[in-house]
Amino acid sequence: MQAVSTSGIQTFSPLFLSRMKSAKRVVALTGAGVSAESGISTFRDPQGLWANFKPEELATPEAFRKNPKMVWEWYAWRREKIKEIKPNPGHYALAEMEKIFPKFTLITQNVDGLHHQAGSQHVLELHGNLCRNKCFECEKVFSEAIESEQVPPRCDCGGLLRPDVVWFGELLPEGVMDKSYELSQNCDLFFSIGTSAVVQPAASLPMYAKRSGAYVVEINPQPTEISYLVDETILGKSGEVLPQLLFALAQHHSQD
Ligand code: NAD
Ligand code: ZN
Repeated sequence: MQAVSTSGIQTFSPLFLSRMKSAKRVVALTGAGVSAESGISTFRDPQGLWANFKPEELATPEAFRKNPKMVWEWYAWRREKIKEIKPNPGHYALAEMEKIFPKFTLITQNVDGLHHQAGSQHVLELHGNLCRNKCFECEKVFSEAIESEQVPPRCDCGGLLRPDVVWFGELLPEGVMDKSYELSQNCDLFFSIGTSAVVQPAASLPMYAKRSGAYVVEINPQPTEISYLVDETILGKSGEVLPQLLFALAQHHSQD
């Protein structure tokens, strides 16, 4: 594993540049860190969301059963905050990458929808989307915002509505994880960006990619749980590193 220098101007190793240039199938796994520069708290940083709230009191089916109003209101607060924020240069650079590589898929753990807002088309959302709701009983999905006096609002079946995100102890959306494993095992280049790589099963994806022969690159201001296994760790913020990476890629292409 090679750690490349910190903030400011990045230099990318010739090996990495040549792997990028020849890559046909590329996967990028993103986490909360990618949205940090848009002003959304990450989960595990000292200032993160979980520093002030206990996950077991808010993001579990048990918590919702016990206190649906409190859980709904916490998510309503997060939704309000998200309305004010915008994608940052990291999101936009990832959307551009879709146009450069023949096959590029984003796998995100984020629920904020910012990749879509930035223009990414091929996005697999592992943990759902904060803007949608679903029925706690019949699982019917509600994509539009819901106006209701009731907190939480109710489904036609009488069940309570909850945010369509994956809570602790819940299974990931059907098919999404299988697709993610398949793509990770069949790519030439894999990026792990802005994720602490501790939440399973997402954290196993870089490992699958590495075992299958992909060149694995991580972008994060600090080393993570998977730094030992990646080919390259680029220490820096995704909103600063990714645009420079795009630029380097374009220059490398023009040198042919
Ligand atoms: P995490 O909080 O565990 O880790 C965030 C990582 O981002 C850390 O390693 C941190 O060093 C890094 N980071 C901080 N600032 C960065 C920057 N500017 N550029 C690049 N990296 C930066 O987040 P995670 O690994 O995504 O944890 C997974 C869980 O967090 C998921 O369940 C996900 O749904 C949830 N989550 C989502 C959002 C969101 O949708 N924006 C926000 C918070 C948490
Ligand atoms: Zn229902």
